[in-house]
Amino acid sequence: MGTTPDNASLDTRAVHAGRADLTEVHAPPLDLSTTYPLPDVDSGGASYDALAAGLPPTDEGGPIYARAWNPTVARFEEGLAELEGTTDAVAFASGMAATTAAILAMRARGGHHIIGVRPLYGGTDHLLSLGLLDVEATYVDPHPDTAVVAKAIGEARRSDTGLVICETPGNPTLDLLDLDVIVEAAGDVPVMVDNTFATPVLQNPAAHGVALVMHSATKYLGGHGDVMGGVIAADADWAGTLRQVRIITGSLMHPLAGYLLHRGLPTLPVRVRAQQAHAEIVAAWLAEHPQVLDVFYPGLHDPMGVIGRQMRGPGAMVSLRVRGGYAGAAAMLSGLRMITHAVSLGSTDTLAQHPAALTHRPVPDGARPTDDIVRLSIGLEDPADIIADLRSALG
Ligand SMILES: *Cc1c(COP(=O)(O)O)cnc(C)c1O
Repeated sequence: MGTTPDNASLDTRAVHAGRADLTEVHAPPLDLSTTYPLPDVDSGGASYDALAAGLPPTDEGGPIYARAWNPTVARFEEGLAELEGTTDAVAFASGMAATTAAILAMRARGGHHIIGVRPLYGGTDHLLSLGLLDVEATYVDPHPDTAVVAKAIGEARRSDTGLVICETPGNPTLDLLDLDVIVEAAGDVPVMVDNTFATPVLQNPAAHGVALVMHSATKYLGGHGDVMGGVIAADADWAGTLRQVRIITGSLMHPLAGYLLHRGLPTLPVRVRAQQAHAEIVAAWLAEHPQVLDVFYPGLHDPMGVIGRQMRGPGAMVSLRVRGGYAGAAAMLSGLRMITHAVSLGSTDTLAQHPAALTHRPVPDGARPTDDIVRLSIGLEDPADIIADLRSALG
């Protein structure tokens, strides 16, 4: 494949990123090597030094050892960085491995305190509260108004605050944050945004001054429910520290995962936009259903006008409050025939799950989503068939 013009659109970049050097083959090779032949001791040692400093290997010395570097994973990283508009990206075994690495990288830079803006993914919320990584966390309560969140961040900031972590759209209520306001409130404290729900197709947090753009690649980036991974897009400086953490903790992405994720990038924009179009239809239908108390969907609720300014669309995640509380939500999930009752999201098939009982189970009372909420990840099926299944499940 040839070179991509500088002004190429996201769709074009998604097809070509990480492939510019391919001349002898059309599809990228899958490199499963655990070790690499060394040309000589001197150049091997020089490459080792580069890797230990968090840099790519030298051309002469090569990747040395697979825990330090893998060329297949590096292609995915190059592609993802290009779509997020950062110089670098660092891939991990899972989204949680990526978040853990970000926290350890923050510790390596002298930070000790983290501000977590709720709602956060249940695992992230739990990791911050555990104290396992020797960090102290202050939580900012969920609020649909970014100005209120920004004020709380300002009040929570300390001299040892090393990171502000937030998600937009939030999980599972899909509230949106205005990232320009959040970054300004954080001041010189770096902000990490979990961009899993939006994907780089719909939102590029780095363009708003966000330092670390994290994805659970297990979701939309993989897109087919068959690969686990995590990735953080960042500048070269953060990426260097993240690679050092990855090498010493061994939280690397498997090359097959890197291969599958890179393979999925060209279709990411098409998948996300099709799923989003289906979600808009399903959300509008749910909003009219007598068994549904409330629908959480950015396309129906965007008080700050984030869509069009920060997001390129409302996405394909839809949550709803079902009449009848826990029992009503549980009955709906049991009544599904085509839609898969399972955690996770971003797959080709529509998935439904109960956040309070599953993904947000470790979140403390009060911060946990209410137990009448069902979360849907809308897939690529015909929206009429998705609606038919929801209609019969809602009874
Ligand atoms: C799934 C998920 C994670 C965790 O990612 P894993 O790949 O499961 O480790 C983090 N954030 C969000 C928003 C998620 O959906």
